[in-house]
Amino acid sequence: MVPAESLREEYENLADLVRRYRFAYYQEDTPLISDAEFDELFRRLEELEALHPELVSNDSPTQEVGGEVSAAFAAVEHLQRMYSLEDVFSLEELEAWLVKAQAGIERVSGAQGAWLTELKIDGLAVNLLYRDGKLVRAATRGDGFTGEDVTHNVLTIKEIPQQLSGSGFPAEMEVRGEVFIPSKAFADFNEALIAEGKAPLANPRNAAAGSLRQKDPAETAKRPLRMFVHGIGVRDGLPTSSQSETYAKLAEWGLPVSPYSKVLGGLDEVLEFIAEYGTKRHSLLHEIDGIVVKIDDFATQRALGYTSRVPRWAVAYKYPPEEVHTKLLDIAVNVGRTGRVTPYGVMVPVKVAGSTVEMATLHNQDVVKAKGVKIGDVVVLRKAGDVIPEIVGPVLALRDQQVPPVRDFVMPTECPSCGTPLAPAKEADVDIRCPNARSCPAQLRERVFHLAGRGAFDIEALGWEAAIALTSGHGPDPATVGGYPKQDGAGVLENEARIFDLAADAPNPELRDSLAEVKVWREKRSKGVGTGEWELVPYFWTKPTAKTPSKPTASTEKLFAEVQKAKTQPLWRVLVALSIRHVGPRASRALATRFGTMERIRGASEEELAGVDGVGPTIAVALVEWFTEDWHREIVDRWAEAGVRMADEQDESTPRTLEGLTIVVTGTLPNFSRDEAKEAILTRGGKASGSVSKKTDYLVAGESAGTKLDKAEQLGVPVLDEEGFRKLLADGPAPAAAEEPTEELIETNDDGATA
Ligand code: NAD
Repeated sequence: MVPAESLREEYENLADLVRRYRFAYYQEDTPLISDAEFDELFRRLEELEALHPELVSNDSPTQEVGGEVSAAFAAVEHLQRMYSLEDVFSLEELEAWLVKAQAGIERVSGAQGAWLTELKIDGLAVNLLYRDGKLVRAATRGDGFTGEDVTHNVLTIKEIPQQLSGSGFPAEMEVRGEVFIPSKAFADFNEALIAEGKAPLANPRNAAAGSLRQKDPAETAKRPLRMFVHGIGVRDGLPTSSQSETYAKLAEWGLPVSPYSKVLGGLDEVLEFIAEYGTKRHSLLHEIDGIVVKIDDFATQRALGYTSRVPRWAVAYKYPPEEVHTKLLDIAVNVGRTGRVTPYGVMVPVKVAGSTVEMATLHNQDVVKAKGVKIGDVVVLRKAGDVIPEIVGPVLALRDQQVPPVRDFVMPTECPSCGTPLAPAKEADVDIRCPNARSCPAQLRERVFHLAGRGAFDIEALGWEAAIALTSGHGPDPATVGGYPKQDGAGVLENEARIFDLAADAPNPELRDSLAEVKVWREKRSKGVGTGEWELVPYFWTKPTAKTPSKPTASTEKLFAEVQKAKTQPLWRVLVALSIRHVGPRASRALATRFGTMERIRGASEEELAGVDGVGPTIAVALVEWFTEDWHREIVDRWAEAGVRMADEQDESTPRTLEGLTIVVTGTLPNFSRDEAKEAILTRGGKASGSVSKKTDYLVAGESAGTKLDKAEQLGVPVLDEEGFRKLLADGPAPAAAEEPTEELIETNDDGATA
C-alpha cells in the first residue's frame, strides 16, 4: 500500500508537469516534450485518478480543456463551450468505445449507429461566430470557455467566408473548425525560410498555431493557412438533425468542409477507414494524427452529453507517433563510397513509427547549420511511414539545461578513416570529399558493400557486417559513440580488384585461408544484451563444430559459392558494381544494351557515350575520367581474369524493334512479371521508364493499373494491353511513332550516411 502522502505528492507533481507542458504547447507554441510523451503522462494522471478518485480536484488537468488565453490577445467567451476529445491509442480500445457508444445509442433511439468518421487534422481549433451570415468574431479554443480573439488574423484566410452565401442561416451561429497548413505548402514555406537563412518551423501543427497567433495580421496573411469545419456550437434554428447534414448545409453556405469525412455503418467499416488513411497518411492535403469517430445523430449527441473535458459521443483514435524527442549524443561523419563525407546524428535509441531509430543522416555541414542542432541537444526526430528518419531540429527551450553543455559540430578537416585532408571536389560544392579513393578504408568498405548489393553482383553472404569484417580489421569500435570503425591494421581484402579471389574456384586460396583471422566486435553474449561489454570474436567459420554450432555466423562456404556465382551476372550489373559516379542501374543497362561489351564501353569516346539514349554528358565525363585511372582499369582486368562475364551475349535473333521508344508498364500482366516486361523492352532497344510523361510513347497497362493509366489517358499516350504489347515487341510501332529526346539518367551514388 502506497502511503497517502507520497501518493498525493506523486499525483501533484504529475499534474504540475502536465500543466507546465500544456502551457508551453498552447501558449508558447513550443512543446517541450513530444505528443507521445505528453499523452503518456496524461494517461498516467487519468489512471491515478481512476484508482484514487479522492485525489481529483476541479482544477485537475483531466477536468479541463488545455489552453489558456495569452495576454497578447483579448479574451472572448464562446457562446457554447468548446471541448477536447477522448483519445484511444489502440484498435481494441476503439472497439470497446464503439461498443459502449452503440449501447448508448440503443438506449436513446434503439437504432443502429451511424458513425461520422473524419480525419483528425493536426492544426488548431477555431470558433467562428456568424451573425446574420456575417463573420463577426473568430477565437481560439483556449480553455474551452474563453478563447483568444484572432478575428483580424482569421480574416486573412481566404477560404473562410466573411459573408455566407445563400440564405436560411441561423441569426447566430458558431462554426468550429481546424486551421492548418497544408503539407506541401509547409514544406515550401520551410524551404523558403532556409533559403533566407532562417530557422525552419518545427511541424505544421505548431506552425499553424504560431501563424494564427501572430500579433500582426499582415504576418498571418503571409502564411499558407487553410481551414476545415468539424463542429458547430450555437445554432438556434438550424434545420438539420445530424452532423453530416449540417456539414452539407455549411458547405452550401460557402464554408470549407473536409472532403475526407464519411458516414459509416459499423466497426468493420471504421477499421477499414483507419487502415486506409494509415497508408495514405502522407499523400493527403494535410497532416493528420488520427481518426475521429462521432455519433452522427444530434439527438443522440445531446442525450449522451459531455464530461468536464470531452463529448461522450466522439472519440479520437491516434496513430502511432511519427515525431518523438530524443537526445543527440553525437554528430559523427561517414565517408561514402565515392568519398563524400556526410555528417549523421547518433541519438539515444527511440521508437518512432514502429521502428527503433538511433542514427539519422544530416547530409552536409550546411544542413547541420540550417537545422541549428548542437551535440547534446534534445532533438525532434521524425519518421514518416517508410521514409528514412529525419532530425527536424533542436528543442531550444531545453538547450540550457543539458549536462554536459551542448557544443557545436565541427566538420573534420581530415578524413576520419585515413587522415587525408578533405576538400570539395569543385570549389562551389557544399559536399566535401576524401580524395584518397583508392586506399581509404572507409571508401573501400562502402564500395565492397555496394558491389555485393542487390542492384550489382547480388552476393547475399556479403552484407554490411561482412564488408566491415573483410576491409577494416575489427569493425566498428564499440567504445566510441557513432565513432569510426577502428582501423587495427588493414582488413584481409586490400582492394576490390581481389574480390574474386574469394570465389570457390579461385586458383590462389591465400585470401580465403586468411578469413580465419577475421574478427569482429560483439557484445558479450554470456552477459546478455545491452551490458556494454564487448569482445572480439571470429567472424567466419568453415564448418560448424560441436563447440560453435552456429557462431561465428558467416559461413565461408556460402560466401565462396556466391562470389563464384556472381561471375555470370550480366554486364550492366558489373558496371554498377564498379562504383562509377552517377552510373547506377538505369544508365548501366543503357550502356550495356548499346555497347554489349566492357571493352567497347572502355574504348568509347565521350561523344559516343553521351550520345547513348539516356547517357548524357555528365555520365559520359564520369565514365571517361574513371577509366583514366590505372587502378580502376586494374579492377576491371582482374575481374575479367577471374572469369567475370564482361560481355552480354547478343541474341541476334531478337530484333531491335523498339529502338528509340520509351515504354511504361503498369498494373499486373497475365503472362509477364514486371521484370520480364522490362527485360523484353530493353533487349529490343527500348527504354523502360517508371513514370508517364509527354515523352512516353506507350503505356502497357495490366490489371489494377492506377494513376499512371489516368495520366496516360490525360496526355493522350497510347495504352496497350498484353496482346498489344506482344504485337509491339514483335513488329515495333506503327510508322508514325515520335522520336524521343534524350534524357540523362544521372543516378546519385554518393550514398553518405550509414543510417
Ligand atoms: P486533441 O488534439 O487530442 O483533440 C481535440 C482537438 O482535435 C480538437 O480541439 C480539434 O482542435 C482537433 N480536431 C482535429 N480534427 C478534428 C475533427 N475532425 N473533429 C474534431 N476535432 C478535431 O486534444 P487537445 O486537448 O487539443 O490536445 C491534446 C493534444 O495536444 C494531444 O495530441 C497532445 O499530445 C498534444 N499536447 C502536447 C503537448 C506537448 O507538450 N507535446 C502538450 C499538450 C498537448
